[in-house]
Formats: sequence, structure tokens, C-alpha cells
Amino acid sequence: MVNVIKALAALLPGRVISGSQVSDKYSVDWSGESAFTPAIVVRAKTVSDVSKLLAFCDQEKLPIVTQGGMTGLSGGSTPQASEIVLSLELLSGITDVDVESMTLTALAGTPLEQLQQAANEAGFYLPLDLGARGSCTIGGNVATNAGGNQVLSYGMTRALVLGLEAVTADGTVIRSMNKMLKNNAGYDVKQLFIGSEGTLGVVTEVVLRLFPKPLTKQSALCGFSNFSQVVSFLQYMQRSCSRVSTFELMWDNYVKQVRQMNQQLTPVLANDDLLYVLIETEGNDPEGDDTFFNCQLQACLDDGILNDAVVAQSERDVSRFWQLRDGVTDILAKVKYRANFDIGVPISQMANFVHTVEVELTASFENLQLCTFGHMADGNLHIIAWTGREADVDVIYKQVYTLVGEMGGTITAEHGIGTLKRQYLSLCRLEQEINLMRALKKAMDPNNILNPGRVI
Ligand SMILES: Cc1cc2nc3c(=O)[nH]c(=O)nc-3n(C[C@H](O)[C@H](O)[C@H](O)COP(=O)(O)OP(=O)(O)OC[C@H]3O[C@@H](n4cnc5c(N)ncnc54)[C@H](O)[C@@H]3O)c2cc1C
Repeated sequence: MVNVIKALAALLPGRVISGSQVSDKYSVDWSGESAFTPAIVVRAKTVSDVSKLLAFCDQEKLPIVTQGGMTGLSGGSTPQASEIVLSLELLSGITDVDVESMTLTALAGTPLEQLQQAANEAGFYLPLDLGARGSCTIGGNVATNAGGNQVLSYGMTRALVLGLEAVTADGTVIRSMNKMLKNNAGYDVKQLFIGSEGTLGVVTEVVLRLFPKPLTKQSALCGFSNFSQVVSFLQYMQRSCSRVSTFELMWDNYVKQVRQMNQQLTPVLANDDLLYVLIETEGNDPEGDDTFFNCQLQACLDDGILNDAVVAQSERDVSRFWQLRDGVTDILAKVKYRANFDIGVPISQMANFVHTVEVELTASFENLQLCTFGHMADGNLHIIAWTGREADVDVIYKQVYTLVGEMGGTITAEHGIGTLKRQYLSLCRLEQEINLMRALKKAMDPNNILNPGRVI
């Protein structure tokens, strides 16, 4: 190890920290599981740093784990024993805003929130948004094909990436900085790096698609007694409003838990509903959009599709609604031994799935706590389950993932497989699919140095 540190320090002067210089922040992602303080951290500042590091490690067959903002929830960026950490925290900054092509280009370690602000300042809109926006990086978003709060209208990260630069395992820099919506010249190589969780290459720079800023935005928090009302509401609003950008569903067990953990969150709706939806629509008619939105909600109330609704009258109201949805951060920070799910099931199966999970887990575990919420319109549910006992966590994972497989769902809709879900991949992917993934990995990283043990 001493020789490796010396060789790296000579190859990348000023970029290498080791031993007692390495702080805890490099030891575990937001999953909080299996923290391990690495012996060596390389803080790359340029693509050339990344290229040199990878070429060296490939030659020496040394495993690397890439770290962005460490907000991942699947253990993907948590170092394993003997891995060198490649941190991209210094590879940060916006490199280009092209107002005519409507693109924004940034280095991989740039926090998402900075990109949102830069787009806004340039008069545009970057619709990628998630609760971890202040800490997660665009490279991490691309590597995980992050979803978030506006997938319903704008798609996952994949739909927003026009081009990228990545470094492959042997240090080759693949610069594919396309800015056009259409480009069918051969294979679309950027797709290999999007969503492959750092196993096929290290993303170093990204070209993102920007959108015109919507002129108006409407937000409401709505209450329901049953799931079929929610489905009818979603379809009604999608039919009648020009763009439903957000549709976040929260079960009452989630809302109660968030309020309990953050006493400052006062109830928004008077009713004691069983389900809550935070809905947002976007439009371009400042004169008419708010009235139209209110009329649609009124029509749903009149038809019995919805029980109750509070429409935001100010930015303060909007942030009150989002505090409830983003309250998951408090749960993740405060609950230690938890099973944290990011599963997908067809909307037609969702109510049955949630009910079955509740019945089966309650029957199996004492003191079970469940919080259910998620990007329901994308078929994506988050469930956090805990009993206070560490030993129960793996059993809960197994039980729920088995149900997901039986209902034709996916064990991860947006957070990725990482290390934590790898053993369950075959519950939602066929053998032939997994074999093709393995063949790709072998072709692109024959020495298995990039994020080994993640995904497959
Ligand atoms: C409160 C909270 C809310 C969240 N909400 C959402 C949500 O709504 N939707 C969603 O999809 N996710 C969500 N997440 C999960 C997480 O924020 C995303 O997965 C995010 O994209 C991770 O970005 P990161 O920079 O933190 O990546 P990291 O956690 O550092 O890394 C994640 C994975 O990507 C790899 N990686 C990181 N950077 C690169 C790179 N440049 N090149 C190659 N590989 C790389 C890592 O090795 C690791 O495997 C949430 C997390 C938290 C804590």
C-alpha cells in the first residue's frame, strides 16, 4: 500500500490523501450501511487526473470506487476493503451555457442545485430535481439515471442528457459532447454510462438539455380516502391540464411520521385523510392558469374524486408542502436500522402491493413501523420499514423484494442496485438480461477495477 500511495502521489501531485488525512465523509453513502474508511482518496480536479488514475489502476489491477455527492442509497459509493476512492468533489463547475441550443454543460462533481440555479439565471429551466439536490452531483445523477420529482413530464436523467464525457477503465477519454436532440450516427455510446452506476466508466462532464421556464406553476396538497380516487385524480388532471409536472403520493403513515419527527410542520389539511397528493402543474398563461387549476380541483371535489385540497397562495405555502415530502430526510437521518425501498410496481398493482406488504410485515414483525410514499405516477414507491432491531432488516428486504418480483415490479425504480440490492437482481431481471450486462462489463472493464461488486 505504501508503494501505491507513493506512486499515486508522484503521478497526481497534490491530489492524493491517505491514512489519518482521510476523513469519515469518504466512508459511507446515505444508506449508512457498512461504513469503511478508505486508505487512499484521490481528489481528481481534471479529466486528465481521472484518466491517469484509471490507467494506473488498470495496469496494477487496483479496484476503484467513484464518489460524487454520496447521497446514493444503495451503497454504490461506499468503499469496500482495498478500494481506492476516486472523489469528484473538485471536478466541479459549469463549463458552458448555450442559450441558442438550450444546453448547459457542467463538470461531473457539480452539485445539482448549482445547475438548477445557473439554468434559472440564464432564463431557462432544468427540470431534474430531487430531495438531495444540494449535495448530489450531476455525475452521480447520470451514473444512477436519477429520477426525482418531475419524471412524469420530463423523464429520468437519461432523457435530459444530450452528451457526456467519460473515462473508461483503461484511462481512455470518450468525449461525446453532443448538443443536438437528434444524433443517430452509430451507437449512442453515452447510454452505456447513464445508469450503469460507475461500473463501465467514470463520467467527467455532462451536456444537459434545458427547457423554457414555465410562466406559471400551481401547487396543491390534496386528500383522499382510497387509492382508486388517486388514480382517477391523476388521469383527470393529466387529461385536463397542459402539464402535470409533479404527482407525489404520501400515505398517512408517512405524513404522521414526518410530523412526529418535525413538530414544526403543522397540518395543512383539516381532514384526517388516508392518502395525500402533492400535485404541481405548469403553464404559460399567467392570466388564466391559476383559475383553471382551481376549477379542475373543484370539479374533482364535486365528482367525489378528491376529498379536500389546499392550493398554495405563496412560495411559503409551496415550501410548506415540499417540507412534508422532503421530510424523508429526517426519517433517513434518525432511523438507524431500516429497510429502505425504492421499488416500482405497475399502478394497477400498487394498492394491492402496499396492502400485502403491510399485512405480511405486520404479521411477521413486532413493533413494525412503515412509511409509504413516492413518485406514484411513475409507478415508483418508497417504503421505509423498521422495527428497531438490526437483525430484522435483511428479513424485511427479502420478504418485500420477493413480493415485488411476484407482482412484476422492479427492486429499484431510481436509486440503483449498488451493493445492497445486487443479490436480489434476478428477482426482476431475466438470466439473459443479466448475462448481457456481464458481457458488457467484461468487455469494458476486463480487470474489474471500476466499482467492483456493484450492480452485477
Ligand atoms: C434525501 C434524499 C432524497 C433522494 N431522492 C431521490 C429521488 O427522488 N430520485 C432519485 O433518483 N434518487 C434520489 N436520492 C438518491 C441519490 O440522491 C441519487 O441516487 C443521486 O443521483 C446520487 O448522486 P450522488 O452525486 O450523491 O452520487 P453518489 O452517491 O456519490 O454515487 C452514486 C453511484 O454513482 C456512482 N458515481 C457517482 N459519480 C459518478 C461519476 N461521475 N461517474 C461514474 N459513477 C459515478 C457511484 O460510484 C455510486 O455507484 C435521494 C437521496 C436522498 C439522500
